[in-house]
Amino acid sequence: MTDFAPSKELLEFIVDRVNVGVFIVNEAQEIQLWNNFMSTNSGLNPEDVIGKNLFDCFPDLPKRWFAKKLSSVFMLKNFAFTSWEQRPHLFGFSHNRPVTSGLEYMCQDLTLMPVKDEDGEVNSVCVVVFDVTDTAIYQTMHKAAMTKLEMVSRVDGLTQLYNRSHWQSRLNEEFSRAARYGSPLTLIMFDLDHFKLTNDTHGHLGGDAVLVQVARIIRESLRENDIAGRYGGEEFGVVLVNTDEEGAMVVAERIRATIASTPVPFSDGEISTSASLGVAQFEPKFSDVEAMIAAADDCLYHAKERGRNQVVPYSSVDDAE
Ligand code: GH3
Ligand code: MG
Ligand code: MG
Repeated sequence: MTDFAPSKELLEFIVDRVNVGVFIVNEAQEIQLWNNFMSTNSGLNPEDVIGKNLFDCFPDLPKRWFAKKLSSVFMLKNFAFTSWEQRPHLFGFSHNRPVTSGLEYMCQDLTLMPVKDEDGEVNSVCVVVFDVTDTAIYQTMHKAAMTKLEMVSRVDGLTQLYNRSHWQSRLNEEFSRAARYGSPLTLIMFDLDHFKLTNDTHGHLGGDAVLVQVARIIRESLRENDIAGRYGGEEFGVVLVNTDEEGAMVVAERIRATIASTPVPFSDGEISTSASLGVAQFEPKFSDVEAMIAAADDCLYHAKERGRNQVVPYSSVDDAE
């Protein structure tokens, strides 16, 4: 044991110099000590607050909640904590970070410590206020980046529809559901007609503009639960949940007609386009998703054979063969 006994002046010096808020309140919620950090950030000096009720000095504090926290420390004689993740701030202090952080106030973590006298009685609580704004900014940025990354890994950059791998995994889920519960499920596969010619005539950028518009038409023609994806270069797939072939034919026909009647504005004039579509409803005979895609693809092939710009359902192909 060392016999070093810090003087009151030294302790006050330290309490005032540390870069955290420190204040003490008694059981009547009256402020007993108020350090420099608290003065600087609140604009209220010790002489403004000492002996006054904390909640009178800071009417914006969540009184019921914070008073309960305080009294729990008096009662249980134990530490208590509050985190910015529950409540970003308790004291409405400003922060000096760029406005781009999107945070209005300094984010705060608080530690509430019981102050015991010689008899072990708790007659005041010391509260330490930590500025955790940087942590909050970092975590918010990190979360946003993760969300964006997740999005990017699921979405096709050009059309903003699901990319093939995510679309197929969603189809897999719905396929299992249909196989297990027997709910109707229908798949539409699209392929644009003479798209090589579109590229040859208008260039690759013209072709891309067509893909973007077709994707938009598909998206705008669907309900929220339907799953649209870019299956390949100029091939798209749509999964219609709880929809039978008859219902899917209506959707497919509407999309086909809209694509054929909506020329794409482009620098060298308008580009007309059309699509051939195959429609296949889930049947127990499909052993896996690939078999169902192959069935819709088969219909698509027939649509091309029959002159393009049309929709062919699996039932018609099935019957014919
Ligand atoms: P069909 O009517 O028989 O489908 O004729 P098609 O010319 O469309 O033939 P196919 O479907 O085989 O051709 C696909 C073409 O799409 C080939 C490729 O150059 C073009 N393509 C694939 N991906 C893209 C893309 O991202 N952008 C553009 N501009 N073209 C693409
Ligand atoms: Mg193709
Ligand atoms: Mg094509």
